[in-house]
Amino acid sequence: MNFEFSAEQNEFAETVRRLARDHLAAGALKRAHDPRFPFDVAQLLARQGLMGITLPQSEGGQSGTLMDAVIAIEQIAAVCPRSADVVQFGNFGPIRTFAEYGTPPQKARWLGELLAGRMVMSLGMTEPDAGSALTDLKTSARADGADYVINGSKVFSTFSPDAQIFLVYVRYGPGLAGIGSIIVERGTPGFSIGPPSAFMSGEEWCELHFADCRVPAENLLLGPGGFKKQMAGFNVERLGNTARSLAYGRYAFNAARDYAATRRQFDRPLCEFQGLQWKFADMAVKLDSAQLLLYRAAVNADRGLPSAYETAVAKAACNQAGFEAASEAVQIMGALGYSCETLVEYCMRRTRGWMIAGGSIEMLKNRIAEHVFERRFDQRNRPQAGTE
Ligand SMILES: Cc1cc2nc3c(=O)[nH]c(=O)nc-3n(C[C@H](O)[C@H](O)[C@H](O)COP(=O)(O)OP(=O)(O)OC[C@H]3O[C@@H](n4cnc5c(N)ncnc54)[C@H](O)[C@@H]3O)c2cc1C
Repeated sequence: MNFEFSAEQNEFAETVRRLARDHLAAGALKRAHDPRFPFDVAQLLARQGLMGITLPQSEGGQSGTLMDAVIAIEQIAAVCPRSADVVQFGNFGPIRTFAEYGTPPQKARWLGELLAGRMVMSLGMTEPDAGSALTDLKTSARADGADYVINGSKVFSTFSPDAQIFLVYVRYGPGLAGIGSIIVERGTPGFSIGPPSAFMSGEEWCELHFADCRVPAENLLLGPGGFKKQMAGFNVERLGNTARSLAYGRYAFNAARDYAATRRQFDRPLCEFQGLQWKFADMAVKLDSAQLLLYRAAVNADRGLPSAYETAVAKAACNQAGFEAASEAVQIMGALGYSCETLVEYCMRRTRGWMIAGGSIEMLKNRIAEHVFERRFDQRNRPQAGTE
């Protein structure tokens, strides 16, 4: 076992950090407060080979590892947190599920544009009555001749104000086995996108409505029975949220450390007060331990899909560590930390969201408990096996 990066990983990290310093440091604050998807950053990262890191070169990717993609998020976020969203989009988000299961004609049509940073994709999964209980989703796709006809609605989809295509979870029939997914393009008749609403983080999302929306059968991504495959792909997205939680927590930690080393009160730098030293020690323990869990999940997945258990443990740890570090950093930096003049308050707001998004901490803990007890705990209000 080796806890050091390889020489290649160190070199890659340094290259990405240099790129971020040279091209993304200026404008980092402005970018964080702009809800629009930064297509300019996406195109820059695409030119530098930071989109599709884990995808085969034959598909326009870099044939790298999931750990490389995690390193890219860490290095970009350390300089410009908002730009790490682009690394997420290009490597971990719905694009990864799309690349995994899309047909050759689908990929020929959309993957190149997505990887070039000219187009962004949004994931339509959550519905008003299906959040954590995702398998309650009602949005239906009915086969009709050479088409599917979609009816239903989705909420909270990240990047939806800017997305040109949407990966939509749909129901072809009853039960878990009836769930799959389909690609819908903006502008398709019967598909309407509501006005933007904002999360606490400033990110925007739109309601998505499908009313007899007709899409060609070639847009089908996963047919009935595709839910498990979708979730396997979604574990990659979770790892991207995990990596960003940790990286944003570290950004705030580093900002607070630099501040505490120089800011003086009572004729001493803040770092000389033990009450603050112990905050930094606690933050370091939480961030370092969460980072090891993130690396375990990423390294064990390599080019495949990460394990559901290791992903759940890593996400729960990084979500908590990232938010707690960012929140403490705000406290340590006083009114300046609470002000929009620095990115520390932004990191706190963003890390708060990932405790809910992509599998809330509570749902992750349910998953971890199932691993511990080696049995499934049905969350629905019906008798558990063995208790009747
Ligand atoms: C920043 C952000 C980005 C998002 N991006 C997307 C996106 O791109 N696409 C998309 O489709 N959706 C997206 N979502 C929605 C996200 O997937 C849902 O918010 C999430 O699944 C939780 O659903 P809910 O908000 O309806 O909460 P609910 O499911 O109503 O849960 C409310 C609370 O109850 C808890 N809870 C629920 N069930 C249980 C249980 N069995 N045991 C213990 N606790 C439980 C939850 O943990 C939560 O704390 C995003 C959300 C956020 C915050």
